[in-house]
Amino acid sequence: MSYEHELQVLNPATEEVIATVPAATAADVDAAVARAAGAQSTWAALPPADRARLLRWFAVAVDEHLEELARLEVREAGHTVGNARWEAGNVRDLLDYAAGGVERLTGRQIPVAGGLDVTILEPLGVVGVIAPWNFPMPIAAWGTAPALAAGNAVLLKPAETTPLTALRLAELALEAGLPEGLFQVLPGHGPVAGDALVEHPGVAKIVFTGSTAVGKQVLAKGSALLKRVTLELGGKSPNIVFADADLKAAVDPFSFLDNSGQDCCARTRILVQESVYDEVSALLADALAAVVVGDPADEKTQMGPLISRRQLDRVRGYVPEDAPALRGSAPEGPGFWFPPTVLTGERPDSAAAREEIFGPVAVLLPFTDEQDAVRLANETPYGLSGSIWTRDVGRALRVSGGVRAGNLSVNSHSSVRYSTPFGGFKQSGVGRELGPDALSAFTETKNVFISTEA
Ligand code: NAD
Repeated sequence: MSYEHELQVLNPATEEVIATVPAATAADVDAAVARAAGAQSTWAALPPADRARLLRWFAVAVDEHLEELARLEVREAGHTVGNARWEAGNVRDLLDYAAGGVERLTGRQIPVAGGLDVTILEPLGVVGVIAPWNFPMPIAAWGTAPALAAGNAVLLKPAETTPLTALRLAELALEAGLPEGLFQVLPGHGPVAGDALVEHPGVAKIVFTGSTAVGKQVLAKGSALLKRVTLELGGKSPNIVFADADLKAAVDPFSFLDNSGQDCCARTRILVQESVYDEVSALLADALAAVVVGDPADEKTQMGPLISRRQLDRVRGYVPEDAPALRGSAPEGPGFWFPPTVLTGERPDSAAAREEIFGPVAVLLPFTDEQDAVRLANETPYGLSGSIWTRDVGRALRVSGGVRAGNLSVNSHSSVRYSTPFGGFKQSGVGRELGPDALSAFTETKNVFISTEA
């Protein structure tokens, strides 16, 4: 298969081409790996306090350009400007948090006979970060910030549709004083530039965030080289609402509409105790009707377009015109628009109820009791996130124990904080990112025994 030499970046709210960017080839990746390896040696040899300081300066540079980065994300990804500001701020915070870890990345001293035994956490070398289009900035930074902090170089391959903020971040890193070649961005096609990173013997680890289907290929190819691979994949997360919950808060439609539903943690299966099904349905109908969908650059807009025509077609495929549903509205005309939708006539085993749609579409399903709720919650191949709404603490804990997912929230819809671990059970992923252990995931542990008897 042949691929275009340039990536055309569209504004998803207008379908206008806003930029063309050269697509990296396998030879470009090869050259980038060589540059990164040189820069990594220099970087790892710097005093830890200096590396930490440079990462903090990078964070300051991001902060100083926060509005510019946010506006770029609005244009290339269609994110609402409020969300995009949060996303750029998240990159700054991740860099700050990782910088704090540089001087705390300690090994251990282990009691042994005849000498001193210490473990040393060494950088892996060159790390490849392959990012999706749904949160181009934060997800790039989830891998990049701790990898750099642990002494590695990073090659970031952004998604085909969203290379612009990644490229700008690389410029800001240089302006902040990071060594040339240490953090490079390689915009390109997944099966070309992404695959070249995965196959390259000089890349020690791949951090992949994207679809489960591509993640499986990345793992298979990476394993053939015994490469370290972290996978953050798809989700189909439940929102479990018991009758005793604060129902209005529980069915906040932004639990699945945020970022137009293009969120791996979106609570797209609303599981409701049958005694409050009608009440929840009425609350959702009102809430969907009130959602402001439109120009993402407008401060008042709550939901923007989908990323692409392809994504729009995919979402439409799950929602026949005559499907029983609660629906909001969306603009007509150019742009990849789809209205907020809750499907009400699905069976738990239907495609819409089990597969990741990645659009502003949820299904509403009734359950009878606690056991039934947990059974339904687990009835997908995924296990990324989920919410549990009840005022009964014992039940909240029992259900948290029963749901097979990596990130749960009780009486809240939050999922991701840079200071807490994040990742999936089952087909939602392998490994964890973020949190206090984020840096050690980018190191090898070396054990050194020093004899006292020689
Ligand atoms: P995708 O799998 O199509 O692409 C992800 C990245 O992989 C892109 O950069 C793409 O160019 C690259 N790629 C594609 N083919 C490749 C190959 N053969 N070798 C190497 N790289 C390749 O996913 P997407 O459509 O961009 O993103 C949406 C998906 O990401 C959803 O399934 C979503 O749930 C998932 N996601 C997961 C998380 C998480 O943390 N678990 C977060 C965000 C998104």
